[in-house]
Amino acid sequence: MVATRRPAARGVRLRASAVNGRIEISLPPRGGEEIVAALLKAHHTWLEAQVASWPRAIPFAPDARLPIDGLPVRIDWQPDHPRMPMLVGDVLRVGGPLSLLPGRTERWLKARALADLEPATRRLAENLGQPLARVSVGDASSRWGSCASARSGVNDAEGARIAYSWRLIMAPDWVRYAIVAHEAAHLVHQDHSPAFHALNRQLDPRAGEARRWLARYGAALHWVGRQS
Ligand SMILES: [Zn+2]
Repeated sequence: MVATRRPAARGVRLRASAVNGRIEISLPPRGGEEIVAALLKAHHTWLEAQVASWPRAIPFAPDARLPIDGLPVRIDWQPDHPRMPMLVGDVLRVGGPLSLLPGRTERWLKARALADLEPATRRLAENLGQPLARVSVGDASSRWGSCASARSGVNDAEGARIAYSWRLIMAPDWVRYAIVAHEAAHLVHQDHSPAFHALNRQLDPRAGEARRWLARYGAALHWVGRQS
């Protein structure tokens, strides 16, 4: 349970985050303790059901199964396998000391995500005739992609910057492509106006389907590589 006091909060809010696996409470700068206690009591059953419905953590460990491109892959760790992870069919071979397995696996997934997302993004930016300065991957929990446009004044000279969650490499490629198309459409329209959606649909007719996939399975991707 995480309680945060927020200067702008007018009341008490209770939220069960399936992405972070946390019960989040936000409170105004002062007071609210009794309301929190009453809320927790009143919503006890609801909270229990939420927690029970959360995805299960999949630590990077020998024989763990994680998705890559939407398909299950098993981690085959042997100390004498090459240290650089290698995907062979539906098996991810990783070698070296067991203690380094989690870090090695995550770095490999991040590199694979960038190697996939960057060229796809650059291709669309080029087709749209839009300058693109940088494509990167991170681990934001709230967004799958973000686009800081050149027109916001930050990167006027060299173009926009697009960042993705590396976790998209675990989703099917058409879902990943939907996020690429969404961010690329933001190179032209920095809003969610009808013009933006028209361009987005033109770049990716399956955008809506991908949103639904992420709404359903996206939270689980945030539990991969977690201990609990
Ligand atoms: Zn957007």
